This record gives sequence, structure tokens and C-alpha cells, in this order.
Amino acid sequence: MGPGRSLQTSPHRLMNADLLPRQVAVIFDLDGTLVDSEPHCARTWDELARELGTALPTAGPVGATVDARVRMMEHRTGISAEQIHSMYWGRLEACFRKALRPLARTYALACQLRTAGAPVAIASNSRRERVDRTIEIALPELLGVPSIAADEVAHPKPAPDLFLRAATHLGIEPHDCLVVEDSDIGMAAARAAGMMTLRVHH
Ligand SMILES: [Mg+2]
Repeated sequence: MGPGRSLQTSPHRLMNADLLPRQVAVIFDLDGTLVDSEPHCARTWDELARELGTALPTAGPVGATVDARVRMMEHRTGISAEQIHSMYWGRLEACFRKALRPLARTYALACQLRTAGAPVAIASNSRRERVDRTIEIALPELLGVPSIAADEVAHPKPAPDLFLRAATHLGIEPHDCLVVEDSDIGMAAARAAGMMTLRVHH
């Protein structure tokens, strides 16, 4: 498989079919790939917007950071972006603790790869605190897996920075990395990084 190639298989077949050559690293997106967070985020964002009396567009593009919407809300309400982030995350964390669940097939794949000793990482367009809480709440078997968060790179997805940082951390060349993603934005980032891609649909 060369750079930019897309695997035409599903996550649960990946291990059985033994499609991965040796020395391939697998980098997982988090939201919508390993956990079912997207509906919780959309609902929490809508509730916050209503509470603050702003008629903002509902969920942003799937896979995008929340930053553009936070800036828009800052502009409309006069509340600082950091405060909005904090209000949003406070509500979302409470929701995650009640309702966040792993997406079974990709979670199982990540766990199997890790157990088999394959290089595995997580690259997320969410911030560090949210990445850590998400793993702790819903993906306990992935605690300790290296992860890169959106606030740790200059440019989040669709830029390639997160995936390239993960590859560097794992010591694997980008063309030997396979990205597992659910969104257009994430797929664009993986392609920009010159990595193989596997798109998941839940
Ligand atoms: Mg995603």
C-alpha cells in the first residue's frame, strides 16, 4: 500500500484479514471514531447557545474544532472565548460522564492492535483535557496510548499537523501510518499527511 491509498475494508476485518504489513502504525481519530461523542456535543452546544440567548448555527462541520463557533459566540455575547470554552466543556463533561460510550468495533480494533504490540496513537481535534477525560470515561483500555490534542499543534485538522506529530512520536514514517477516521475534515488531514486511510461509518 502506498501513501494516500484507502483501505476498502471494515475495522473488524482488519485484524482477521491481516492486511497490515509489519511496521505500520495505526492512528485513530477520537470523536465519532472511537466514541459516540458527536450527538452529545451537538446537543450540549445547542443548549449553551439557547442559554446565552444566541441563535447560532447548530453543530459545526463534523470533525472540526469548536474554536470557530466559540469565536462567533464571543463576538455575539461579549463573553470571552475562554469562558465560553469553559462553560461548554463543563456541560459536556457532565454529559460524557453519564452517556459517553465507545464505538465497539473501532475500540476493539485499537485494543487488539495495542495488545499485539502494534504502534497505536490517537490524534484528536479536541483539546487535551477533553481527550484525557474521554479516554478515562469511555476507553479505559486505551489509557496510556500516546495521544495528540488540537491545542498542542499549530494547525488542527484539516491540516496534517496532528497526524504528523503522532507519527513522529511513534517513530514511524508518515507513509507507513494508517489513519482511522470518520469525517471529511479528518480524511483531508490524513491525506495531507501522506498517510493511508480507513474511513469508518457507524
Ligand atoms: Mg471524528
